[in-house]
Amino acid sequence: MTEWAREELHPDHAQSLRVERLHYDSETEHQRLRVFENPTFGRVLTLDGVVQTTEGDNFIYHEMMTHVPILAHGAARRVCIVGGGDGGMAREVLKHATVEHVTMVEIDAGVVEFSKRYLPTLSQGAFDDPRLELVIADGAEFMRGTKGGFDVIIVDSTDPVGPGEVLFTDTFYGHAKRALNDDGILVTQNGVPFLQGSELTNTMRAFRALFVESTCYLATIPTYAGGPMAFGWGTDGDGRRTPMDVLQGRFDASGISTDYYNPAVHVASFALPGYVSRLIP
Ligand code: SAM
Repeated sequence: MTEWAREELHPDHAQSLRVERLHYDSETEHQRLRVFENPTFGRVLTLDGVVQTTEGDNFIYHEMMTHVPILAHGAARRVCIVGGGDGGMAREVLKHATVEHVTMVEIDAGVVEFSKRYLPTLSQGAFDDPRLELVIADGAEFMRGTKGGFDVIIVDSTDPVGPGEVLFTDTFYGHAKRALNDDGILVTQNGVPFLQGSELTNTMRAFRALFVESTCYLATIPTYAGGPMAFGWGTDGDGRRTPMDVLQGRFDASGISTDYYNPAVHVASFALPGYVSRLIP
C-alpha cells in the first residue's frame, strides 16, 4: 500500500508526497521530525508534517537566500543564520571564500543531528567548516543578547507556528536590525504570499519602520506549495541598487557554481507582481 505524506499547512490547500521509504520519524525536544525518500525529490525533511527541505529542490531556496544578499552587499565577512538546522544555508554561505565567520543559531539540536545522518547532501561538510560556529539556542534569545557586528543575517526558520513564531515578531526584527553593521542586510523566509499574505504584510510593516530600504524578492520552490515564496529584505545600505555588471563581476570572482542563482535572476526576483506588491503596506 503506497504511503503518502500529507502536508496541511494551509486551511484550504494541502500537498502530498509519496513516501517510498521512511528513514526516520520521531519527536525531538521541539517538534516531530520525519525524513523519507520520494522518487522525484529524493530525501525529504518534514517538521510537524510541514516540508522543510528536499534534496531535489533545496538549491533554489538556499541559493536565493544567500547569494542575493551576499553579492549585493559585496563585502560580507560576518554572517548569521537563524534556524537552518539542515545545513543547506550554511553550505551556500560558506561557498563564499570572502566570508570569514558564520554564526548559525538553531533551536533544535535534533534537526542538526538527524540532518547530518540522513541528509548529508544538504550540508555537504558545512558543519565541519572551521568558519562555522553552531549555537543551539532560540534565535530570538540569541538576537536579544548578541554583540552583533553582522554584515548579513539570514532567517531560515519554520513557519510562524510553534518555535518559529517568535522569529516573525517586531521585537525580533528590532534586535536583528541592531545586530547588523551599518550597511548590513536582513533577509527572511516569508512564506508563500498567495496563501500566507498576512505573514508578508506584517513583516514588511515592521521592516518599513526599521530600515531605509525594505521590500521582498521572490523564487518558486516546487515543494513549498502555493506559488512563489517571498524573502523579506531590509537594509540601510544601497545593496538593492547594486548594478547588474557589478553583481556579475562579483559572481564571476566568487567562482561559485549554481543551479538557480545568476545576476539576471537576482535582479528580476525583485520585480513583484501586483498581488504581492499590494501586500506591502
Ligand atoms: N526552509 C524551511 C522553510 O521555509 O520552512 C526552513 C528550514 S530550516 C530546517 C528551519 C529551522 O528553523 C528548523 O531547524 C527549526 O528547528 C528552526 N527554528 C524554528 N524556530 C526557531 C527559533 N526560535 N530559533 C532558532 N531556530 C528555530
